[in-house]
Amino acid sequence: MAATTLDGFRALIENSSDAIFLVNAKTEIMYASPSTAKVLGYQPEELVGRNGLELIHPQDREQSTQALKEVIAKPQSPLQIHTRVRRKDGEWCWVESTASNLLNEPHVQAIVLNAREISARRAAEEERQRHSEELARSNAELQSFAQNVAHDLKEPLRTISAFTQLLLRKAPLDPINRQFADFIVDGVSRMTTLLEELLASATYGFKGALERVEMGIAARQAMQNLTEAIASNAAIITIGTLPAVQANECDVIRLFQNLISNAVKYRSATPVEIRITAERSELDWIIKVRDNGIGISKEHQQRVFGLFTRLHTLDVPGAGIGLAVCKKIVEERGGTIWVESEPGAGSTFCFSWHSD
Ligand code: ADP
Repeated sequence: MAATTLDGFRALIENSSDAIFLVNAKTEIMYASPSTAKVLGYQPEELVGRNGLELIHPQDREQSTQALKEVIAKPQSPLQIHTRVRRKDGEWCWVESTASNLLNEPHVQAIVLNAREISARRAAEEERQRHSEELARSNAELQSFAQNVAHDLKEPLRTISAFTQLLLRKAPLDPINRQFADFIVDGVSRMTTLLEELLASATYGFKGALERVEMGIAARQAMQNLTEAIASNAAIITIGTLPAVQANECDVIRLFQNLISNAVKYRSATPVEIRITAERSELDWIIKVRDNGIGISKEHQQRVFGLFTRLHTLDVPGAGIGLAVCKKIVEERGGTIWVESEPGAGSTFCFSWHSD
């Protein structure tokens, strides 16, 4: 190698913010770059001649020895490992080391180790992991709380309904009082439905196991679950090419089911036509469910995703939970959901989903 090239490499190594070591096959340190002082607090001369394994945490030594064996066996494949290394001040710090086997390079004849301190990154990763475990635990608690509340509330509702119906059958009620009793039974039945839907909604959109989900298959499954509503409205649904994504399959089916069911429910007088398509936007897929129904005015387009928010309560059955569940499912995976619509001109519900 020409002298100028070597000088260039030397300057590169000496100015690098990574600590660079040359070790032999017995892990003895033959060279340490000046930046070891910055990374580990040692001057290079304090390290040369020592065995590199001495600096590594006892619990990480076995992993390091194995990694070294692998690098020696496969000179073409550099290896990266994370280990704890003792700094000169006695503190342990996390270090990411990349080992490259240049033992057969005549000018080097060593294993080159590039070491970078990653304690802050590890701490942030550990904090994220703790946070997500905490979230999963509190979600599970919330779910079981919702289940208990729904179960306990249904019991007195059953009693109210049963005794009101008994009263209707046995007591001589005038037409007005009979109507009042009917209102009670209807109210109780609606409350029971609400509780059941609320209970079901609590189980969607929690970080469950992720799998590869073919959105096209999920959309067809959702259609199958809605066979009756689709047939009785003679709805024509076309599904374009949809991507496969990382998701929870039940969640994706529920997402399409709620959107298709609404597209049918909030239909106009024209024959129902629904089109489901996907397009790319940078790292995301944008999935669109377009209908030719009654549409939604601008001022309500954000509100409809709120829990128990309904714009059409009189003639169409529903609890105002469907779109809130869709929002929860999409946002749990880091996406967003929105609607583009004009009254009388149909609605297009869109959501983004990370592509793999
Ligand atoms: P629900 O259908 O049970 O009322 P959702 O949360 O699914 O509850 O929807 C909330 C409201 O948004 C509905 O009450 C309706 O007013 C409006 N909406 C939802 N989807 C559509 C749609 N495709 N076209 C027009 N309005 C819709």
